[in-house]
Amino acid sequence: MGSMTGRSGLPPTVDVLIVGGGATGAGILRDLAARGLHCLLVEKGDLASGTSGRYHGLLHSGGRYVARDPQAARECIAENGILRRIAPACIEDTGGLFVATPDDPDDYVDTFPDRCAAVGIPCDEESLARLFRREPALNRGIRRAFRVPDASLEPWQLVEANLLDARERGSLALPYQQVVGVDRNGGFLSGVSIADTRSGSVERIMPRIIVSAAGAWAGRVAALAGVSLQMSPGKGTMLVYNQRMTDSVVNRCKPPSDGDIMVPVHTVAILGTTEIAVDDPDGYEVTPAEIVDLVAEGEKLFPDLRRMRILRAYAGVRPLYDAAEVAGPAPDGLPAGGADRAISRAHVIIDHEARDGVSNFVSVVGGKLTTYRLMAEQAADIVCAKLGVDLPCTTADEVLPGQSPNRGYYWLGDRLADHEATGGGDAALICECELVTRPMLEGFLAERMPCSLDDVRRSTRLGMGPCQGAFCTFRAAGVVAAMAPDGSDTTDAAAAEEALVAFLRERYKGTRPIAWGRQLQELWLSTGIYWGVLGLDAFAPAALQPPIAATVDDGPG
Ligand SMILES: Cc1cc2nc3c(=O)[nH]c(=O)nc-3n(C[C@H](O)[C@H](O)[C@H](O)COP(=O)(O)OP(=O)(O)OC[C@H]3O[C@@H](n4cnc5c(N)ncnc54)[C@H](O)[C@@H]3O)c2cc1C
Repeated sequence: MGSMTGRSGLPPTVDVLIVGGGATGAGILRDLAARGLHCLLVEKGDLASGTSGRYHGLLHSGGRYVARDPQAARECIAENGILRRIAPACIEDTGGLFVATPDDPDDYVDTFPDRCAAVGIPCDEESLARLFRREPALNRGIRRAFRVPDASLEPWQLVEANLLDARERGSLALPYQQVVGVDRNGGFLSGVSIADTRSGSVERIMPRIIVSAAGAWAGRVAALAGVSLQMSPGKGTMLVYNQRMTDSVVNRCKPPSDGDIMVPVHTVAILGTTEIAVDDPDGYEVTPAEIVDLVAEGEKLFPDLRRMRILRAYAGVRPLYDAAEVAGPAPDGLPAGGADRAISRAHVIIDHEARDGVSNFVSVVGGKLTTYRLMAEQAADIVCAKLGVDLPCTTADEVLPGQSPNRGYYWLGDRLADHEATGGGDAALICECELVTRPMLEGFLAERMPCSLDDVRRSTRLGMGPCQGAFCTFRAAGVVAAMAPDGSDTTDAAAAEEALVAFLRERYKGTRPIAWGRQLQELWLSTGIYWGVLGLDAFAPAALQPPIAATVDDGPG
């Protein structure tokens, strides 16, 4: 069945088509493939380039939800334990802290340990002496601190490991393939049109069941099937700092709000988030006002934050689901409400047979990356019941492929140690900050060409370190140029320029909102080099959208 594929690699028929290549879609593909079904996952961009590739990076212990959403807290701590078993290489076991700053309410702080105990989250109070010894950058006004099993979770590796497992069992996952049409015959979806977003060609395939794991875009996919599904996308902005001022995830001990979590991720630390309702999950920008708010809140955790360098800002869109919009009864205990922190972070699996009379359509909405596996299991159970497959879920027990044992705290040197272990020699570093070697880059390109430098970044972390691609971008573009798609070794200058411009534009989007003071001077300098020295007209001042501010003021940075 899997060997018969169309021009773009699409099979004409599959058991299940999964729409969306984030953590949820990848988890569903893995689960169904393990139960013997032949499935296809399609993703309109690069794999994990939606919210899963733009999130905060926290493997929740559940502590954040103990007061308002105990069910979500229970699910988090259970999945936290499972992911540590099945995906150790994707997790840095930083541990987590909930700290009471002078601004945090006493009643919340005092009841926090009991609330954790009630939902099964290990929570130990830490002495202040030990706290400040281990985390010297924290605010000395902190009154109490509790340790919980939060951690840092790498999304791209996790998605890739799920997809690899599914591929090894005969299923397929294809990037740059967008579902653009669905044929509906009464209560049955009989075909799906899929467009190759790079060539524009469209093919039709006939899956037996369609599962939408399209996150914040789930309403649009449902509309293609003639079904109404009201999502309330919520934009969250985060700031990347050029250093790890903390070894642990640090949360404020108070009801969730803006700027109250710092997560150490690889070589950097990320402060987040905001929460702002948006109409369009593709049409949003990070505003300077959000940066000001985040820094002001973050300072309550780390008083020196204003003097630390922000590398960039980025945002993702929460796939929030507004149960109040659903025709018929609201699914299990979900509150009604607008697109803000009042909407539950719990997930909902919608069987459109029961809700809308469409027998072969299922949507997965809401949730968190931490609970992706559970969401996948529940969606797969519904699909299997529809297809008469009577095999249990195995994803909580079977370790994902490529999971070397957890090595404790992140150490950049592991990459070179791996290089040495496999023979050593000249590592030919392309990216010094993240130690991306030329063989790593060439290996990725050989597998994934044609692809963008941004795709390279997601898989290798090229350009994500403290210099933000100031040097490696140009080296990597040269390597791309030397790998002509026809396999010849002639250098393709146009390909290099296209790759370079696309990558630098994406980076500009993240550095423009944080450009105050010296950062602003640096932005003028770098865009001046791109335009004046390299001749990249996309960086001429008049071409830059949004434009760079003309004056250097003090700002928050
Ligand atoms: C700011 C922010 C911070 C967060 N922090 C955390 C955190 O620290 N910990 C945590 O556990 N969770 C966190 N979350 C939540 C978590 O990121 C999401 O719940 C999770 O990533 C959603 O994964 P997903 O696979 O459902 O959606 P996505 O990753 O968005 O995947 C859906 C995919 O569907 C694709 N798609 C859409 N339409 C189509 C189509 N027509 N055809 C083909 N493909 C299509 C999209 O391109 C997208 O890639 C955060 C969310 C945000 C916004």
